[in-house]
Amino acid sequence: MKIYGIGGFSEVGKNMTAVELKDDVFLFDCGLFLPPIVELEESENVYTEKRLRAIGAVPSDDMLDGLGLRNKVRAIIPSHAHLDHIGAIPFLAHRYNCPIIGTPFTIEVLKTLLHDEKMHHLDNKLKTIQPNSFCYIQGKNKKYKLDFINITHSTLQTSMLALHTDEGVVLYANDFKFDNNPILGQKPNYEKLREIAKEGVKVLIVDSLYSGDERKTASEKVARTLLEDVLLTTDNKNVGLFVTTFSSHIARLKSITDFGKQLNRKVVFVGRSLNRYVGAASGIDLCPFRKEIELVAYRKQVEKKLRHINSQRAEHLVVCTGHQGEPGSILDRLIKNKLPFQFRERDHVIFSSSVIPTKINIENREKLDSKLKKRGVRLFTNLHVSGHAGREDLRDFINLINPEHIMPAHGSHDKTAPMVELAEELGYKDKKNVHLIHDKQKLEFK
Ligand SMILES: [Zn+2]
Repeated sequence: MKIYGIGGFSEVGKNMTAVELKDDVFLFDCGLFLPPIVELEESENVYTEKRLRAIGAVPSDDMLDGLGLRNKVRAIIPSHAHLDHIGAIPFLAHRYNCPIIGTPFTIEVLKTLLHDEKMHHLDNKLKTIQPNSFCYIQGKNKKYKLDFINITHSTLQTSMLALHTDEGVVLYANDFKFDNNPILGQKPNYEKLREIAKEGVKVLIVDSLYSGDERKTASEKVARTLLEDVLLTTDNKNVGLFVTTFSSHIARLKSITDFGKQLNRKVVFVGRSLNRYVGAASGIDLCPFRKEIELVAYRKQVEKKLRHINSQRAEHLVVCTGHQGEPGSILDRLIKNKLPFQFRERDHVIFSSSVIPTKINIENREKLDSKLKKRGVRLFTNLHVSGHAGREDLRDFINLINPEHIMPAHGSHDKTAPMVELAEELGYKDKKNVHLIHDKQKLEFK
């Protein structure tokens, strides 16, 4: 068995791992590295495979060509619907003669991406597998079983992926936390994980982004309580009320909607990415609050609605894009007076998010916050809990799975190296059975 870290082992983003077994190769995830795209967004909007490769925004999967592996790829398997896991599929999947297999929500979001990137028609079959179910994938000379094990994260239908091979299970656990009160969706499937552990995990590829944070990551119910506290117990009579959060975080959006209703405000979602994820969720009946909200995405609609809200601000709760201060987002356009709503003194803007710590995001948010403050807007920031496991969750996870080998993933080494230290505490040895690699590096397991 050989495993190639193609992307996401030297940065937070463009996740992709290839597993090679004799005649067959499986690709886990195929994501974007977003910081260079945020920069690109301001100049132009046409993305091509060539351009995205040039700026390092997609995984270096062309390394497979030189190794003669491209034609052996039997499936592309995204673990969940976040862009750093599926965003490169519209640009790269055409290179492979194989299906793309994911949970219904993941595939639904992927379809909206394909629709947006009109020039990328894909011949690959899109196959959906329910969470806590499995499929078989035909290799050259044998069939492989693949389990989609339900796990909690910050979007719906996230899976740990267990590929059963003659050499043991490869468990791909990229992006998860253990949340026993997830607000929406199912709890982690601990029983299945125990079963997989019993079968024997050869290699565990594991989200180690917060392996240095000594914590157990809090449940989504904590974020709900933070929101409740600000929305229901702060005086917000007669003021504008805006909340911004991750568009893919359907559970969070449900909490915001619930409290908006309790305030007797009309809840209006504004922005294209909210439209994408909420549309995908309601398309497969996973959006229980769809009837409670109004959703406006396109320019004319957005302008008309915001003009109305401007004069009736106390009757609405607006959920919008822009929590990272992204250029072109609704908050960014509002503060630049490009939309017909003017913030007033004492209006509330609530950030149900944390700043993703890259230079460009930090700068964008500083600019946005200072402009909002200049207008006398009250800011409520960090009403958020992470979707990623902390060090103590990872300790429990390793003890539960007891893998032969560990590959820390999902970040540059300053983020993921503490996973090596943790593994050593649990009896593993650096470079012997815990392997910290960079993008484009290969590991061979005998
Ligand atoms: Zn994720």
